[in-house]
Amino acid sequence: MGSHSALQILKGARDEGMRNLVICKKGMERVYKTYPVADEIITVDSWDEWEGLEKELMKRKAIIIPHGSFVSYLGPERVKKMKAMYYGTKEILEWESDRDMERQWLLKSGLLLPKVFERPEDIDRPVIIKFHGAGGGFGYFVVKSAEQFYEVKNRKYPDENDFVIQEYIVGAPLYIHYFYSPITRELEIMSMDKRYESNADSIGRIRAEDQLAANIHTSYTIVGNIPVVVRESLLPQLFTMGQQVVKVSKRLPRAGKGLFGPFCLEAIITRKLEIYVFEISARIVAGTNPFIEGSPYTALKYDVPMSTGRRIARDIKQAIEKGRLKEILG
Ligand code: AMP
Repeated sequence: MGSHSALQILKGARDEGMRNLVICKKGMERVYKTYPVADEIITVDSWDEWEGLEKELMKRKAIIIPHGSFVSYLGPERVKKMKAMYYGTKEILEWESDRDMERQWLLKSGLLLPKVFERPEDIDRPVIIKFHGAGGGFGYFVVKSAEQFYEVKNRKYPDENDFVIQEYIVGAPLYIHYFYSPITRELEIMSMDKRYESNADSIGRIRAEDQLAANIHTSYTIVGNIPVVVRESLLPQLFTMGQQVVKVSKRLPRAGKGLFGPFCLEAIITRKLEIYVFEISARIVAGTNPFIEGSPYTALKYDVPMSTGRRIARDIKQAIEKGRLKEILG
């Protein structure tokens, strides 16, 4: 689907010698014409045309590579019902999108998570309020008491009742991009990023007094992604965390084949180097986009520029060559 990380996925397929195609909503096709990485561009007026498109994809024996926008545009129900070949485990989407299930999975994996407060009255430290489905962090706010919570909530979001109250962790955000292949049975760290967010990343450019005077509230709308390389001594722990999440996913009820392919742990690292994980994305994340030509980590492992998009294509290619395609389809 033409958005999110499609350029990277298309180039990755081409670099592995596979034919590719991209489906674009009208208005997006210019991107895929300008950067010539697609063999074919199909343009649609709306995603409601999906059923017809799916038949076409099946006829062509296409394998769908899901990314963040794919799942959010089509919705988990339509994704579940899809008959076309699909890379990844569909059942894992439910574990990822349900906040309680996701938390259960991460806790079982032995990860450190920010505390969650059931009721605003329990707030006893800085917390971040996240509305469900808040597009890319828009509308989040930070408060440190029940009183402050109700003040902001009633004034700005009186009708929103689906939110989580999460301990605000002061530290450096780090998004770790993993890849686990059921074919090689190896967990890889592909790359890492931090997000470039508006206005969280610009608020520090204004004096604190001016922020107060202008009544500016922090928001976390994602604008882009910035590459990060982590201190080397943290790598063993990051590998263990990824390994645990994969291992536990195989034992989760109704999680099919468990987690494989690309995924991302979203973490905040404190000054004491505690690693808090606040979310998992069970698919390719847009934070891999700065690494179309590979990352410092993939440069150490591969003799060709290896993006996450290309790694997916290679997994598919190796599965086909070994007659194990079924193992990587959801
Ligand atoms: P999310 O939409 O959950 O990926 O989060 C959007 C932004 O909020 C990111 O910049 C995170 O670093 C920040 N954030 C999310 N949860 C927390 C937390 N518990 N403590 C501190 N910052 C957070």
